[in-house]
Amino acid sequence: MSFKNKFEAYDWEEVKASIYSKTDDDVRKALLASKRTLEDFKALISPAAANFLEPMAQLSHKLTQKRFGKTMQMYIPLYLSNECTNICTYCGFSLDNKVRRKTLSQDEILREVNVIKSLGYDHVLLVTGEANQTVHTAYFKEVIQLIRPYFSQISMEVQPLETAEYEELIALGLYSVLIYQETYHKEDYKKHHPKGKKSNFNYRLETPDRLGQAGIHKMGLGVLIGLEDWRTDSFFTAAHLQYLERTYWQTRYSLSFPRLRPFSGGLEPKVEMTDRELVQLICAYRIMNEEVEISLSTRESEQFRDHCIRLGVTSISAGSKTNPGGYAVEPGSLEQFEISDERTPAQIAEMIRASGYEPVWKDWDQIFVQ
Ligand code: SF4
Repeated sequence: MSFKNKFEAYDWEEVKASIYSKTDDDVRKALLASKRTLEDFKALISPAAANFLEPMAQLSHKLTQKRFGKTMQMYIPLYLSNECTNICTYCGFSLDNKVRRKTLSQDEILREVNVIKSLGYDHVLLVTGEANQTVHTAYFKEVIQLIRPYFSQISMEVQPLETAEYEELIALGLYSVLIYQETYHKEDYKKHHPKGKKSNFNYRLETPDRLGQAGIHKMGLGVLIGLEDWRTDSFFTAAHLQYLERTYWQTRYSLSFPRLRPFSGGLEPKVEMTDRELVQLICAYRIMNEEVEISLSTRESEQFRDHCIRLGVTSISAGSKTNPGGYAVEPGSLEQFEISDERTPAQIAEMIRASGYEPVWKDWDQIFVQ
């Protein structure tokens, strides 16, 4: 049994029609419910809920403060490699983008780590493309052992792995894994992933199950907004999250909402999502799920991120470079995508404090699993 069994019982067009048919009454009912269902979530992400943004924002703010207090977790990505054997239509690292590739050596990783530590970080997100011949489990094991003394929390966003491989990495200190489905639209997934291992939709869909079976402490889900109808994709993300929480109840969960960003030779979004719609989505997830962590990256603009601090977001990146060697070794190497908020971590921390929140550089829950 995996999420695939549940997923296959759904029909994309039926789900989409159901979301778009929700009424004001459905939204009111969802806001008042004491225990919310996936039907309530459909109402909260529907076009009808656009008229309820203010009460949704107030409720989301209240629920977030109740569970997380006035804190904001800080994290930063460390890109290890831009090698990739996949073609993805939306990514600067895609195989068909003919640019020089780079994978960091151990010495280079330590130079990057020095800069990241000088910025104040204790939580790092390791990111790579998917190049199984060079950037594989043995490489990840070496990297985790190398940087473990410098960070209390290590997360990864790399290619999907097998359960036994996750178990090995967790034993060495891996804390969380982000694995985005990109889109749950199975047919269009194939168009966006025409070549390489990532074109296997089901293998990716079942990755969170493998992570749960491996006993990961935390996992992150999400879709790339701009590929398909964001409301329908968000419904499937919520259904996936609900299934995982019930099945692997000892794991913690986080969500991200990456909107397609420009990159060298890039794809134009098929579907535009406005800032108001992204606020609606963040609030809808929070109202649906009081426990889930919500993350916002430097893909988003300064103004938007400042505004979202109070709405439901619980972790935020700052000072990010999306290229291997971007902090110290080779600042000019190929980026995965352009960032939008270019403020330094110190400036972001100051903005967080000015909003009445405390920036947190360490995840205190991690202390209890060591
Ligand atoms: S999204 Fe990932 S797998 Fe696809 S091209 Fe980019 S790095 Fe490679």
